[in-house]
Amino acid sequence: MESPEVRRRTMQAVKSEDTAPELLVRSLTHRMGYRFRLHRKDLPGKPDLVFPGRRKAIFVHGCFWHGHDCARGARVPKSNREYWTKKIARNKKRDRAACSALTLSGWTLLILWECELADERRLKAQVRKFLNP
Ligand SMILES: [Zn+2]
Repeated sequence: MESPEVRRRTMQAVKSEDTAPELLVRSLTHRMGYRFRLHRKDLPGKPDLVFPGRRKAIFVHGCFWHGHDCARGARVPKSNREYWTKKIARNKKRDRAACSALTLSGWTLLILWECELADERRLKAQVRKFLNP
């Protein structure tokens, strides 16, 4: 069972805008030589990395917060279960709405999940393929 301390840190991590997974993707993409804007407030869902010239954007999703279909995403805190379940369902709904709004206005999106970031080589290949198809 998760200790309150672990849970507290998890909640802090997911609530912040500049999460560790996001910083990792930003730093890697930057090192690869790509330039981007952050959290454009005028775009649906405020994508984490925006490449305006290419009309492309990357979302970096925390598995818990965005309800990923993986072990980490399936883990709901023991206390306030109903609250978290509803909250995450709302987040997923909002994510879907943002993605369709962006796609409809001609944006191409890449969703990167927290649990898929460990393999840097794979991640680099994914980013490169997305930006230079
Ligand atoms: Zn995941």
